[in-house]
Amino acid sequence: MSTHFLNGAFVSESELLISPRDLGYTRGFAVFDFLRTYTHHRPFKLKEHIDRLFNSASAINLSIPYSREELTAIVLDTLAKNDTPDEKFIKIIVSGGMSDSLLASERSTVMVLVDPATIYPSANYEKGLGALVVEHERYQPHAKTNNYIEAVKQGVRLKAMNADEPLYVSDGMVREASRSNVFAVIDGVLMTPKTQILEGITRAVLLEILPPNTPVVVEDFSLDDFKRASEAFFTGSGKEVTPLTSLDGKSVGDGLVGPVTKEVMRKLAEYTSSDLW
Ligand code: PMP
Repeated sequence: MSTHFLNGAFVSESELLISPRDLGYTRGFAVFDFLRTYTHHRPFKLKEHIDRLFNSASAINLSIPYSREELTAIVLDTLAKNDTPDEKFIKIIVSGGMSDSLLASERSTVMVLVDPATIYPSANYEKGLGALVVEHERYQPHAKTNNYIEAVKQGVRLKAMNADEPLYVSDGMVREASRSNVFAVIDGVLMTPKTQILEGITRAVLLEILPPNTPVVVEDFSLDDFKRASEAFFTGSGKEVTPLTSLDGKSVGDGLVGPVTKEVMRKLAEYTSSDLW
């Protein structure tokens, strides 16, 4: 059984309770961040995730009642309470706290959830995932707010169409998927969108470790450009690098996991299993 952190205390799953009067519940006023551990419970890029959480909170005027250092220590302490061999997924959630008005409470709700890391089916990596184009841009795309309404709303359609992810497109430009960034090889160039996205930490790691052998151009591209892609993949803390091999039921490129994608998967795995971070 996992141990979590809630408002100053370590709690079991059954004690993980908050009031429905919390602004996170009544008004959707909340942000979060999500990361994982590698190689014996080392949280991957914890500083970057904590920084992003503070930026997300500041983007919506939500206060976090801890310093970055205190919250980092809380995450590490919560992790240490979960001493089972499996690697972990960590979710830090901050919401507005109890309020019966639109004024956020002085006491935001803070929780750190630690769960065994999900092991995704190997078919995700060997065959790739399918996406459906969805006209959408996330609210405050640079912030990781709890608003995943569009993603959940699309769930039924995705299932009916046997697809895995919505691919968000706004103003004709490809942005991101519901929980991951997108990369594509277009006219032989590996590209990833630049604006109106969450700047993923996996994406940032790749931008750092791929060049010079595999240069990446950070530039917005249109859906029409994307349709010419010879390969594409998603990146995220959970998904890592997962090939995207079909879009709206049509193959991306030849529909197989391409050589650039394979190389990027290899490079990320090499990095996460190293002591370079
Ligand atoms: N975009 C969105 C909307 C996301 O929810 C995520 C997952 N956090 C990402 C991109 C990828 O970010 P990261 O690599 O930091 O997990």
